[in-house]
Amino acid sequence: MSGITLETVRKEFDAGDEQIVAVEDIDLEIRDGEFLVLVGPSGCGKTTTLRCVAGLEDVTSGHIRFGDDDVTDLRARERDVAMVFQNYALYPHMNVKQNIGFGLKLSTQLSSAEIDSRVQDVAEMLGIEDLLGQKPKELSGGQQQRVALGRAIIRDPAAFLMDEPLSNLDAKLRSQMRTELQTLQHELDVTTVYVTHDQTEAMAMGDRIAVMNDGRLQQVGTAEAVYRSPVNEFVADFIGSPSINVFDVRVDGDRLVGPGGFDYPLSDTAPIEGYDRLRAGIRPEDIDLAADGIAIETQVLEPMGNENFLYATLGDREITARIDATARPQPGDVVTVDFAESSLYLFDPDTGESLKTKT
Ligand code: ADP
Ligand code: MG
Repeated sequence: MSGITLETVRKEFDAGDEQIVAVEDIDLEIRDGEFLVLVGPSGCGKTTTLRCVAGLEDVTSGHIRFGDDDVTDLRARERDVAMVFQNYALYPHMNVKQNIGFGLKLSTQLSSAEIDSRVQDVAEMLGIEDLLGQKPKELSGGQQQRVALGRAIIRDPAAFLMDEPLSNLDAKLRSQMRTELQTLQHELDVTTVYVTHDQTEAMAMGDRIAVMNDGRLQQVGTAEAVYRSPVNEFVADFIGSPSINVFDVRVDGDRLVGPGGFDYPLSDTAPIEGYDRLRAGIRPEDIDLAADGIAIETQVLEPMGNENFLYATLGDREITARIDATARPQPGDVVTVDFAESSLYLFDPDTGESLKTKT
């Protein structure tokens, strides 16, 4: 068992006369036993990164290490990792027992009795010991995914690489499997890279989260760190649901002036020094109804039970606020809201970089 290190890993694809940079010089260290979630929008390079780690793609440049071993030139088979995909890729003609045991049979000298006993252990761990005689088509999606996991686990690999393994499951089963998978990973203590486009899943599962966009690694950190202290506007926008409100403001002395009469005096002007315009961000839960504040016009109110989502307009901008469940503004109602200066995010209008670190 070991950690995994990506050193300036780059992967380009030839696409006719065009060169696609799918992964652009990524540096990333996954710790021994860690559950790291690689998250980002569709097409940002997650699968390609994972396939490079697995040895299913040759890197264009850079190095991949497992512990101290440079595995860059090793083929997939020689890397001792187990992959789990979105489509479970079970063998349709084999039953569950054969599907789980198949890899061991190929790769080890174990006797049938030993393999049977390992299959039994793994099946019990996954709660599918009663299904061993069944064929994949007789199983539900959740059961099939457990079999796919069983196949990965039984090999006792140095690392698990999982590419959107829960995407084909319905919402309820998906959230149940998230918890199971996390528990299992912590029990097995195997270094895991888990790819998803779903930021909620990433936040819920990862020991740490690595956010990617457009082939580039944006930020690596705990769920709390990427949420509270995003390095740029992309990360701030991608992590969190409903999304952060971001709009253009003009700097006028110590005041930020924006859409719809937005006029916010700052007590700390250090972060905005030298800027005459900025991007200002405020998360929906940091906005409070206030007797005296910024006027917004209610469009839709969504009651969530313990709180309400208020969709409103601030001038020509849409704005989302999470407010008290007892507050019931109606469409067309103008309400006033306020927020603490400490909850304000500020971004460079050209680069999108964060101008201050939040506490
Ligand atoms: P993600 O998994 O984040 O959705 P991918 O890693 O699948 O993203 O793709 C990243 C980029 O690389 C995309 O632009 C995709 O079209 C391109 N790409 C992936 N695989 C290939 C390939 N085999 N040939 C050419 N382009 C590819
Ligand atoms: Mg993918």
